[in-house]
Amino acid sequence: MRDMRCIYKDSNFQKIAKTFLEKVKKNQKCSWSDFKKVFLTLSNDSCPICAKDLDDFDDTDHYRPKSLYKFLECCYENYMVMCSKCNRNLKNDYFPLDKNSIDNLKNENIDIKKFFDNEKYRDEINSRLEREKPLLVNPCKDNIFELFEIRFCFIKKYGGVTLIYPNSNLNKNSYEYRKAICSIRTYKLNNLKISIRLKIMKRTSDKLKNFAIATKIYQQNKNKENFSELIRELSKLHRVDYLEEMDKV
Ligand SMILES: [Zn+2]
Repeated sequence: MRDMRCIYKDSNFQKIAKTFLEKVKKNQKCSWSDFKKVFLTLSNDSCPICAKDLDDFDDTDHYRPKSLYKFLECCYENYMVMCSKCNRNLKNDYFPLDKNSIDNLKNENIDIKKFFDNEKYRDEINSRLEREKPLLVNPCKDNIFELFEIRFCFIKKYGGVTLIYPNSNLNKNSYEYRKAICSIRTYKLNNLKISIRLKIMKRTSDKLKNFAIATKIYQQNKNKENFSELIRELSKLHRVDYLEEMDKV
């Protein structure tokens, strides 16, 4: 996960936001991809949620889905770059609110023109949004260090893995704790990492078994040419396996 809270202070972001807002006020249309480049620079070309490498085909997402919050479609403070796996496969239109959420603007009929033209009205709506308690992390606004912590765990049979947990300072009855848990589950942050590692470990151990057999054959037959060829193949296969797993993410 990546802390993106610096984004609104970035001078390039502010420049794009100014032109963007002028266009929206003129014709109520917006192209959120205008922000993609600056998002990618600040996220170091990686998904702020799962850390997968991003490219031009990945998405500029609406944190609050535009299907539920139509009036936020052209609101750049609702934008966030994400990999297509996190955005389309895992999150999509899912946007749970906490049981203690004080307000809920989902599917509410907000006057979009007024929202952009009338500052007082916009402030009213924004303060209502502040009272909503979303259960998915927003790395552009939330302090991810307060919500999560990384633990190195040893799982018998599989070895050492790094897992993401709710911060141990959080009260288990708090909204923040529920938000951390819901984000980890929705984006499958732990399952994904474990499954990749496990598969790689399994394949590597299969390869090592082959390697041990090959060594034995070599010692018996002294066939040097075949042996070095096999080593090359093993190292190549291991690398390809890893990249294939990452592509599936
Ligand atoms: Zn991702």
